[in-house]
Amino acid sequence: MKIAVLKETAPGETRCSAIPETVKKFTALGAEMAVEKGAGLSAGISDEDFKEAGAKIGTRKDVLKGAGAILCVSGPEPETLKDAGRGALLVGELDPLRRKVAVEGYAKAGLVALAMEWMPRITRAQSMDVLSSQSNLAGYKAVLEAAAAFGRAFPMMMTAAGTISPAKVFVMGVGVAGLQAIATAKRLGAQVSATDVRSATKEQIQSLGAKPIFVENVAGIEGEGKGGYATEMSPEYQKAQAELVSGHIAKQDIVITTALIPGRPAPRLISDAQLATMRRGSVIVDLAAEAGGNVEGTEAGKTVEKHGVSIIGAPNLARTLAADSSALFARNLYNFLSAFWDKEKSEPELPDDDEIVQAIRLTRGGKVVNERLASS
Ligand code: NAD
Repeated sequence: MKIAVLKETAPGETRCSAIPETVKKFTALGAEMAVEKGAGLSAGISDEDFKEAGAKIGTRKDVLKGAGAILCVSGPEPETLKDAGRGALLVGELDPLRRKVAVEGYAKAGLVALAMEWMPRITRAQSMDVLSSQSNLAGYKAVLEAAAAFGRAFPMMMTAAGTISPAKVFVMGVGVAGLQAIATAKRLGAQVSATDVRSATKEQIQSLGAKPIFVENVAGIEGEGKGGYATEMSPEYQKAQAELVSGHIAKQDIVITTALIPGRPAPRLISDAQLATMRRGSVIVDLAAEAGGNVEGTEAGKTVEKHGVSIIGAPNLARTLAADSSALFARNLYNFLSAFWDKEKSEPELPDDDEIVQAIRLTRGGKVVNERLASS
């Protein structure tokens, strides 16, 4: 089967859906790799690198012609795929809930669109999970962004000219991004505390050497909740959480917020009144900016200052680490397609009754077929 790798066209996208390593691995499976000219440049991969790994380089028209699978990071506009054949798989982050018209366009074009961000949270799919691989890098980079914007140092320093006290970092939302943010802030020498609604995270926070800050008098979500995700909390819990945050936040220098609820706007964790209690010069990095933000006043893609506090609305920080984020993303795509590879036919076979296929397949046979999309 021919596999096409597209050059990304979404504004600000730097990543590439393949790297030379995955090109070689797909070739070893019997696939013929075709990479659109310049696809890897923003991630530090030249056309020569891809050629050496065994790919052919061509225009979009060249790579799409006869391709059985099309790899991308962000979903392309359907009209840019008119040279693809009916039945071809389109694999990437297709953002189905916000791009319903595009999904219909994929259906009309006869493509089998597969939204990698809807990968179910099951053990078998861990190595295919683009949300995890990209969140991990975003959590790391969020702390570096905060450190760069902060007018003071992170670690305690005892110098001949006096002692500098360590920065206090508070991480709100301890999923994949939050855990990496805690670990990164600890490595930089900060005093770190963290909170989540899932009680299971308490132990994880402690194991990284940070202090858990939890609502104790109202039940949170035990274990992982449905599919490992949080759900919206009761008004009683939200009130208790707001009181807890108010008491804690005034003493913090840096706050990293990562809280998300799938299919819903991000929960509001810091109000304007709470912001006003923070010290001037404090920094907040809001990783939930694209989902509406965890902080009142967050603007996606901008840094705003309120009450002397800088709020960095950081959408998709993984894009700022294009080489690493591309490598992990590309491996997620390879892990997915190779897990379904039919060696005799030299192409992936996606069974209708498979949990992964059912979760991520959006379109097939000219129709939108995903239940989650139909019910939204
Ligand atoms: P996420 O990006 O959906 O949310 C980030 C964090 O915000 C979560 O920990 C969530 O509980 C928290 N949160 C939501 N509402 C909040 C609120 N009001 N206050 C404070 N925190 C709030 O989560 P994620 O990073 O995708 O990870 C969620 C869990 O799923 C993790 O335990 C992770 O290890 C697990 N996971 C499993 C798999 C798998 O098995 N394939 C893949 C990915 C993640």
